[in-house]
Amino acid sequence: MQRTYIKDLKEKIGEEVIIKGWVNVRRDQGKMVFVDMRDMTGLVQCVVLPKSEAIEVAKEIRTEWVLSIKGKVNERPEKNKNDKVQNGDIEIEILNIEILNKAEVLPFEISSDTKDINEDTRLKYRYLDLRSERMQKNIRARGKLIKYVRDFMDSEGFVEVETPILTKSTPEGSRDYVVPSRLYHGKFYALPQSPQQYKQLLMTAGMEKYFQIARCMRDEDSRGDRQPEFTQMDLEMSFVEREDVMDINERCLIGLIQKLYPEKKIQQIPFPRLSFAEAMEKYGSDKPDLREDKNDQNLLAFCWVIDFPFFEKTDEGGWTFTHNPFSRPKPEFMEDLMKKENIEKILTTQYDIALNGMEIGGGSIRNHEPEALQKVFEIMGHETEKIKENFGHMLSAFSLGTPPHGGIAWGIDRLVMILQNEPNIREVIPFAKTGEGKDPMMESPTTITETQLRELHIKIRDTNPK
Ligand code: ASP
Repeated sequence: MQRTYIKDLKEKIGEEVIIKGWVNVRRDQGKMVFVDMRDMTGLVQCVVLPKSEAIEVAKEIRTEWVLSIKGKVNERPEKNKNDKVQNGDIEIEILNIEILNKAEVLPFEISSDTKDINEDTRLKYRYLDLRSERMQKNIRARGKLIKYVRDFMDSEGFVEVETPILTKSTPEGSRDYVVPSRLYHGKFYALPQSPQQYKQLLMTAGMEKYFQIARCMRDEDSRGDRQPEFTQMDLEMSFVEREDVMDINERCLIGLIQKLYPEKKIQQIPFPRLSFAEAMEKYGSDKPDLREDKNDQNLLAFCWVIDFPFFEKTDEGGWTFTHNPFSRPKPEFMEDLMKKENIEKILTTQYDIALNGMEIGGGSIRNHEPEALQKVFEIMGHETEKIKENFGHMLSAFSLGTPPHGGIAWGIDRLVMILQNEPNIREVIPFAKTGEGKDPMMESPTTITETQLRELHIKIRDTNPK
C-alpha cells in the first residue's frame, strides 16, 4: 500500500491507509491511546482502540518517534468534531504500528513555538528546531520566494549563472574570508563578498541578462542582523539605465508579494523615491521607514533612495566610495569624475531599496569605460601599479568591448525575515550561525590537524603576539 500524506486523508474516509511521520503528541488514556501524527503536510489524530493488537506497541511509543501507521480513516462522531484544527472531522483508527526510529527525550519541546528557547541550544540542535511549525513555515516560504524569483527572472529572459566561490580579494569594503592555497605556497583565495566583478565580466561576455541566488561571505564583527554568510539575489543587465533596473526589480517584488503574501498590503505603488539628501533631511536615515501605521504587521512600505554622494572622506583625509567603486556617476557628474574635480559633489547612479526601515537591496549603473574606472581608484589614492594588480582584469575587459551595464543585489535573508514577520535573519536561515559567527551544531570554526596545517604551509601564532 502506498503512503498517504496527512493533508490528503480527508479524501480517504472509510479507507485503509498508511501514514508515515513523527509522533507530535501521545496521550495514554489507559484503555485507549491517542497519537497525533505529523508529516510535512500537517497533523492528524490517531487512536488505538482497547482491543487492537497495536495497543502494546502504542503504550511503548513516545513523542518524536518516527512511525509508519496502518489504519482506517473514520469520520469522527459529531460531538468530537473540531473545525479549528486540520483534520478535525476525521480520526485514524490504528490497526498496526511499525516503529521506524525511536527518539530519546528531546532537549527542548518542538511541538510549540521555539522562540523562547535559548538560541544556542536551538542552533546546536537546529535539525530539531527546524521541525517546529514556525521554522518549517519560514524555510518553506523562503524556498517559495526563491522559486518565484527564479521563474520571474527566467520569464524576463535572464540566465542564471554560477560564479566562483574561490576567488580573489574584492574591494567591496569588508574583510575577506580567505582560504589558503596548498599548491601555491603563501597564496590565498578569498571567498566572495558578492559576485560583483564576475557579474560585470559576464556582461563583457555577452550574457546581457544575468542573475544568481548567490552566497556571499563577509568577515565582519558580529551585529544583530548580520551573518558571516548570507544570500543575495544578484542581477546585472546590459544596455540599461537606472530606470530599467529599478523597474524590473519593482515588478518582481510586487509580483512576489501579491502571489505569495496576498494578506500583505504594499503602501504605495510605484514605490516612492527619495534622494539621499531628502531622506536624511526628512527622516534622518537613508533607509527610512515610511509606514503610515507601524503596528500593522501586513503593511509594506518600500522606497527607493537615489542620488547618493559617490565618495566620502576617510578618517585619514582621503576619499573612499560610499557604496561601490564600480558605480558610474550620474551623467551630469561624469566630467567632474574625469577631471577629478568637485569630488564631494559627485552623485552616483546608486539606488538602494528599503522596506519598512531596513535596507533590502542596492545597486548601480557601472563605469564601463576603463578610463572612468581608473579615475575612481585614482581619487581613492590607489597607485597606478596597484590598480593594475588588483583590477587589471576589469580594465582589460572594459577595453575589449563591454556594453554599458548595471545591476542590483537584494538581501534574501532580510526580505524573507520581514515578510515572515520575524525579528532577525537567523529565524529564516536554515543552518544559521550565532551572532558571534559560530555554528554550535557543527562546532565550527574548529582547529585543524598539524598535518593539514603543514600541507597549507601555515603556522599558528600566539593569540597576542608582542
Ligand atoms: N554588489 C553589490 C552589493 O553586494 C550590489 C550591486 O551593486 O549589484 O551590495
